[in-house]
Amino acid sequence: MMENYLNNTDFDRIRETLDKSGRIIITTHTNPDGDAIGASLAMYLYLQKRGFNVKVIIPDLYPEFLAWMPKAGEIMIFEKRAEECKKFIGEADLIICVDFNNLKRLNELGDVIRQSDTMKVLIDHHLYPSDEFRYSISFSKISSTSELIYDFIHASEYKDLIDKEMAECLYAGIVTDTGSFSYACNYVKTYQIIAELFRLGIDGEHIHRLVYDTYSENRLRLLGYAVSGGLTVLPEYHAAYIVLTREDLERFKYEVGDTEGVVNYALSIKDINLAAMFIERDDHVKVSFRSKGKFSVDRLAREHFNGGGHSNASGANCLMSVTETIDRFLALLPTFRDELKQVY
Ligand code: 5GP
Ligand code: MN
Repeated sequence: MMENYLNNTDFDRIRETLDKSGRIIITTHTNPDGDAIGASLAMYLYLQKRGFNVKVIIPDLYPEFLAWMPKAGEIMIFEKRAEECKKFIGEADLIICVDFNNLKRLNELGDVIRQSDTMKVLIDHHLYPSDEFRYSISFSKISSTSELIYDFIHASEYKDLIDKEMAECLYAGIVTDTGSFSYACNYVKTYQIIAELFRLGIDGEHIHRLVYDTYSENRLRLLGYAVSGGLTVLPEYHAAYIVLTREDLERFKYEVGDTEGVVNYALSIKDINLAAMFIERDDHVKVSFRSKGKFSVDRLAREHFNGGGHSNASGANCLMSVTETIDRFLALLPTFRDELKQVY
């Protein structure tokens, strides 16, 4: 099973490079989600166990609902400690990039990494990886980067190093990237790995509570607003979208992670096949797209919003105003009318 895709990637070259390295950096994308943090920390725990000098450096803060993960407190946030992070990057032999396909997704940290001579390798499951990486394990028909990390370790001579703490990180990554096993998980192998993680002693129910049942009152009320006043449904296009302005975020005292997953509610309506969410930030609009079936929101984000992602979940950062961004979306809908009618 897993040998198939590992044979067709740079698995051996990454493994050999790793074995020769001393100082290793692990990094992931801005606005990190459960898979980004889960995959990074599992790799961190693994490399520490093997005795490497290793740091996790990420562009910006992770949401509070991921702070329980083992060693999350050791993650270095570039936004807060840029000079220290730059020093570590300068001294590293290897940078392992997980859960993103282009250094643009790391903002300023991406520029620093791009300019450094240190070897960069990629372990990721998004479509269309860029050519900035010396070696890549890039495979999109899989639940998550966390599953790739499991395969990467499991297919090596160090598979017995996978322990309960690593399993907790990997499980959280797989659960969050599949919407609690509701998409990107029609694979037997995903469930076999989940069974292995349970054999290592994880408490799946407890992890679910830690990730999903730790809302602040403000976060729940923001969700309530998003799916009532913030929601527009366009049945004629089988589409729905949510808008959150800066004012809305202030009203509900927005904190990092509070809008995570909100866009999925717009897709939960019967016969709605395309959902979008537009969040007004200080200098850009954060756009999220979700779709059902064969309508590709990766294509939509890439071709019209300079973003990307997966076929059924994608995103972009738009430098236009929120009104201009929504107008662009609305102007596209007539061209997708037929495609959106029949997605299965
Ligand atoms: P979300 O809507 O949850 O932020 O992101 C959904 C998916 O799209 C994730 O897999 C994420 O990595 C990807 N994504 C989000 N924002 C961007 C972006 O600005 N550019 C690209 N290329 N992908 C993005
Ligand atoms: Mn992912």
